[in-house]
Amino acid sequence: MIESTSTFKSSMTKNNIVRILILGIIYTSMEIVGLTLSSLGFFESDIRFYVSLIVGFHLIYLPVVYVLYRRRTFKVLNQVQYIYFYVIMTWGSVFNVLMYIKDEDITIYSIVILLISALFIIRPLISRIMYALNFIFFASLIYINVSDILVFNQLVFKSLIVTVIAVLISNSNYNVRKKLSDSQKDLLLVNEKLKDQALKDSLTKLYNNGYLFDFLDKAVNNKVYCGNKFSFLMIDIDDFKGINDQYGHLFGDQVIKTVANKLEVLTRDIDIVCRYGGEEFVVILCHADLEVASQIAERIRSEIEREKVEGKVGVTVSIGGALYQNQAPLALIKEADDKLYMAKNAGKNRVVI
Ligand code: GH3
Ligand code: MG
Ligand code: MG
Repeated sequence: MIESTSTFKSSMTKNNIVRILILGIIYTSMEIVGLTLSSLGFFESDIRFYVSLIVGFHLIYLPVVYVLYRRRTFKVLNQVQYIYFYVIMTWGSVFNVLMYIKDEDITIYSIVILLISALFIIRPLISRIMYALNFIFFASLIYINVSDILVFNQLVFKSLIVTVIAVLISNSNYNVRKKLSDSQKDLLLVNEKLKDQALKDSLTKLYNNGYLFDFLDKAVNNKVYCGNKFSFLMIDIDDFKGINDQYGHLFGDQVIKTVANKLEVLTRDIDIVCRYGGEEFVVILCHADLEVASQIAERIRSEIEREKVEGKVGVTVSIGGALYQNQAPLALIKEADDKLYMAKNAGKNRVVI
């Protein structure tokens, strides 16, 4: 839960930082062009000083943010992004009051806070505090610059309405994103489960033969962690038909589960145990040559022979084994299967490798 919350947080931060970078670069470029043109006399501007201030801020802030972004330091960026929102809001408020308050106009203030609420994803509590503080600041600036109390009241009331709207937009923006991210997470979880189900056998919880063939295909392409060295055991329960006939299929299932469990216990975590089908299993012994494989197979055989299913019925298995030597999956299976056939023919309950 903590991890998923922090993933959401950093993905929101990433989203915001990318927008800050794009908008910041576009805005700064436009302002630089404007400043150049006005200083060349193309048009008159009495706000050059203020524009230069905000351009200067961008010229320092954007490269820093870019470097932090490239280093993927989202914990730091999460704090650094708020600097941008505060600066832009403050600048919007100051600029609005200085330039347009004599016309009783709060357009710049409105545009700035509505843009921030629409474009960035900010946690509701933080956005509320941010907009509230900025509103108080803006109202104070109006108070200082407007002498008529009725005009002051009217402007503050108008900006309060815009601020409330901005908070509402910001919160709903956040909530939509959060819901989307939550349902995406659920979907990934379901996907994970389905994948697991598709690769595992429901009775024994062992891997199924789909997984096995996938593994063998990957082995041919040198893409398994066992490298090029593993032994392959084919294990078949002896006279299983008889057990089914004598004790019923449910008991037969119990036998299969018991053998499966034994195979898991008797092999290492890096080995792979699959239910190949019916009462047949495959064990892949990582890094094991035929000598090691023979010892392990013999241990499996003797341990299963000693086991009594539900304390009453003993079972035995026959095992055929082969060494992986880059042969095709079917060739490897056939080799082990032939050995298994030999074990059966030689009287069952034995290992042929
Ligand atoms: P052998 O010693 O030569 O291996 O003889 P066997 O009787 O074990 O071999 P055979 O392949 O003739 O029989 C396997 C039986 O396993 C046939 C089938 O009904 C049964 N079987 C296959 N899957 C399951 C299962 O999931 N549960 C149960 N209870 N029986 C199964
Ligand atoms: Mg069989
Ligand atoms: Mg059998």
